[in-house]
Amino acid sequence: MHAAPLRFDSLIAATREGRSLLASEWREVAQGLADGRLDDAQAGALAMAVRLRGLSPRETRDLTAAMRDSGRVLHWPALGVEAPVLDKHSTGGVGDCLSLVLAPVLAACGAAVPMVSGRGLGHTGGTLDKLEALPGLCTELSLEDFARCVRRHGLAIVSASRELAPADQRLYAIRDRTATVDSLPLIVSSILSKKLAAGVQHLLLDLKLGSGALFRERGESEALAQALVVTARALGLGCELAFSEMDQPLANAAGNALELDAVARVLRGEDARSRLYRLNLALCARLLLRGGLCEDLAEAQTRVHWALCSGQAAARFEAMVQAMGGPAEALSAPHRWREQAPCIGEFCADRDGVLARIDTRALGQVCLQLGAGRGVAAARIDPRVGLSDILEVGARVRRGEPLLRIHARSLDALKAARQQLLPALQMSERVPEPRPLLQGWLEARPAAFAADGEACAAQRACRDCAEPGCRGPKALAASRAQHRCRAAGLLA
Ligand code: URA
Repeated sequence: MHAAPLRFDSLIAATREGRSLLASEWREVAQGLADGRLDDAQAGALAMAVRLRGLSPRETRDLTAAMRDSGRVLHWPALGVEAPVLDKHSTGGVGDCLSLVLAPVLAACGAAVPMVSGRGLGHTGGTLDKLEALPGLCTELSLEDFARCVRRHGLAIVSASRELAPADQRLYAIRDRTATVDSLPLIVSSILSKKLAAGVQHLLLDLKLGSGALFRERGESEALAQALVVTARALGLGCELAFSEMDQPLANAAGNALELDAVARVLRGEDARSRLYRLNLALCARLLLRGGLCEDLAEAQTRVHWALCSGQAAARFEAMVQAMGGPAEALSAPHRWREQAPCIGEFCADRDGVLARIDTRALGQVCLQLGAGRGVAAARIDPRVGLSDILEVGARVRRGEPLLRIHARSLDALKAARQQLLPALQMSERVPEPRPLLQGWLEARPAAFAADGEACAAQRACRDCAEPGCRGPKALAASRAQHRCRAAGLLA
């Protein structure tokens, strides 16, 4: 009867059998996602076929390009923006609100940051969900409003939309409900299609390693790193990649409105020793250098400190929030919009000792159960719930002292969270070996693009750790991730 559904069926079957699709066929898939001709069941089946079979590097590139072209592709100089167009994207973690700090800092330092972000996926939180904890704020802007916000304030953090990377907007939501979040080619095409459509000139990818990362296995994370830089490079996107540690939440909170408190503190120039502040400093400095806005790393770091301590970055954030329909003085007067969860309780140490290990994925799952994420498609996120005041690994506590606070909708939910947290936080007598927050860099260099079935050309990388206290190559060599990267030819 209808030609289109039959055609999609055969593309799904081919992918299921591990046969490659042509670039023109991936374009049909992306257009079908964008205009709805590929229905939800078909999109879910295709996502599962890709998840189980994988895609060759050539197909990953073609799918990414097709998703980029499913809507408009922006060119900022033509829209009146002369500043370098910079952006960063993380592969997802727990308590990772870095984008909300980094974007206004870069804007305050002279960059343009048209950031197209994602929502929570699986156990990981999403930048858009955090931003939408601000009442009235809308992240789905028209292209006109998006461009106006970037022109006026230097930044805008928005979702993929019917105009911009619509294929990702649709597939992203379907993956979250079909157990296909952790598919390497789908992650690559999702991240890069948005950034390419947004006209980013230089992208910094923050690839998380550790118990809260999207992939549990380090080898898989390293393969993802390689696929991201190779695909970005093949599509002409300037890109480098940082490996950062996600063995504990990045901020001391996980949950949408709760993380905004951590964002506010760093944007006020406070908490300079926190993991969030330090990672922001390292990644912003690197991007400012790439964008040609600073001569060297030392100057770039000084600019970042200045943007925070002078209040310039906070002012950019507040201006963007208001332009997107959110409350005035979002950071400086949070009592005007902020609501507390009805039940707040502590989770305490059952003995004296040191917090030795956090199962960060489990913490993300507790947040999901509390209502901070979407278990089912229609679920509404409760911005008030989650975890706060989470101690860092290595913190010394006495029996009965809090390791974190739980923000729940009901007493039952609070009790359930306590039960789930029991195995997730481990105490010990000894202080664990500290792990560097920033574990190394992988830089994309020109590389021949592999044909179907061939391995990608290995990417060479520099070794340049900006983590304070890092003892250099020896410390890096000690890390298993680095070791594996090197074995795979990813690191020099
Ligand atoms: N971030 C994205 O935008 N997409 C993914 O699939 C994972 C992280």
